[in-house]
Amino acid sequence: MTRKLSDLNFHSRFVDELEGEADAPSFSRQVPNVAFSRVRPEAVSTPRLLAWSEDCAALLDLAKPATDQDRAVFILGGNQLAAGMRPYAARYGGHQFGHWAGQLGDGRAISLGEIEGQSGERFELQLKGAGPTPYSRRADGRAVLRSSLREFVGSEAMHALGVPTTRALSLVATGETVIRDMFYDGHPQAEPGAIVCRVAPSFVRFGNFELHAAMNELDRLRELANFVIRHAYPQYWQGDRSPDYAAWFGEICERTAVMISHWMRVGFVHGVMNTDNMSILGLTIDYGPYGWLDHYDPNWTPNTTDAEGRRYAYGRQPQIALWNLARLAGALMSLVNSREALEAGLERYRETYARQFRIALAQKLGLHALDRDGDTEAIEMLFELLGAVETDMTIFFRTLAETEDIGVVHAAIYDSTALSDELAARWETWLRWRCDRVAAELNVGVGLSTERRRERMNAVNPCYVPRNYLLQLAIDAATEGDVAPLEALQQVLGNPYEKREGCERYARHRPDWARDRPGCSALSCSS
Ligand code: AMP
Ligand code: MG
Repeated sequence: MTRKLSDLNFHSRFVDELEGEADAPSFSRQVPNVAFSRVRPEAVSTPRLLAWSEDCAALLDLAKPATDQDRAVFILGGNQLAAGMRPYAARYGGHQFGHWAGQLGDGRAISLGEIEGQSGERFELQLKGAGPTPYSRRADGRAVLRSSLREFVGSEAMHALGVPTTRALSLVATGETVIRDMFYDGHPQAEPGAIVCRVAPSFVRFGNFELHAAMNELDRLRELANFVIRHAYPQYWQGDRSPDYAAWFGEICERTAVMISHWMRVGFVHGVMNTDNMSILGLTIDYGPYGWLDHYDPNWTPNTTDAEGRRYAYGRQPQIALWNLARLAGALMSLVNSREALEAGLERYRETYARQFRIALAQKLGLHALDRDGDTEAIEMLFELLGAVETDMTIFFRTLAETEDIGVVHAAIYDSTALSDELAARWETWLRWRCDRVAAELNVGVGLSTERRRERMNAVNPCYVPRNYLLQLAIDAATEGDVAPLEALQQVLGNPYEKREGCERYARHRPDWARDRPGCSALSCSS
């Protein structure tokens, strides 16, 4: 990794090819009929590099800034621009918690421009928390350390888990404080501010299309669709002829289904699946009050704002993604002109999700496929049992590769006294089913040796996930100026499928003290 961020020459196809507002004043307002507004990050007092992702830097072929005096840190803090940068805030709308919310837009995210990565693919760099934009509404355009650290660690962890996601290059402390009322209870406090540099081929969301459609900006809508297709879905670009919008929508549905099946596989809960938080590339985007299931509970959400309705709870995510795709379909109606074609896309989502999740489950259980009589019932029984008493999802699946008897349940449950005789007997039935299924596959020659089966299971059942309490411990330390726990966490989460000596504490159950501590199980949207 040799290139210095400050030496690079940036481009921006988004700014070059789409309609925008030039040199926009940053006060909040409605901005009609454009894809973006040009804005500048606002300088901060003392930018300091708190964390760096070597993995993301490798993707971009970037050298780590040697000190906080390195120009790269000033760029990543929003104090300077590199050559060619023409920063902008994108304009989009969205459905929030089921209701159309009108114009939202990048209220605190500012895209700096694109560079070519190692592979020749282009990546956009975006600062989150770099100051106000026309889309900030009544907020300040800033972000606090706790939410920025969570986004930084979360997105890189998801990548390492094999989940499609936007990436994060750096976490920079601003040296300034931000006022937040964390519990929305009338007690605002000054908290340290921070900026994450996010990286993705594009940050376009469903909501960019929805807003153009809702405002009847049909030329802008077509231009944006053509832009995304030409650069990110070139297989549907047909030169002078109109692109195959229906086929493109079908692929968005497919990619979204693949992403959601990964979320379900690893126990990730996004927390705020509004349509403005859905990437048109099928990437996990906008890490807010997200979380990982500790004990398996389909009804669980980390987001306190959603505690009542539980719209975005773990088990509802597959359905919500479909609902969101239906909103996108509505926005693309003027381009596709065929309800049936859009319906077919939604059907492709259903089929892809069902297929992908079944494949993932088979792998999680060490089976070749879940295609026999009784498999569906056995899977239903498994999830019923997992939810019967608090049972750690990550520990259960990881342990199953080693322990195929009731020991796996003892290892995964939170309260050993909670396992009644009746429940233990039902578990025994299920575990017997699984052993029989493994044996049956071996009999017909599609099964794997014990060793190979273990490897295959360990490649999809993570040992380490960013449990909320682990993130909170890293936040507590970083707030006190100690980034060692954050670095250790980055290390462990960089190889989540590989069990490592000395890292046992990262693979344990959520401790009891974390059960009700803010940030450790429940999170507010305040960020
Ligand atoms: P989110 O729920 O975090 O995806 O945010 C919803 C909308 O609120 C987006 O348009 C964000 O840009 C905007 N937003 C959230 N926090 C802030 C902030 N501190 N300053 C400005 N805009 C914000
Ligand atoms: Mg958002």
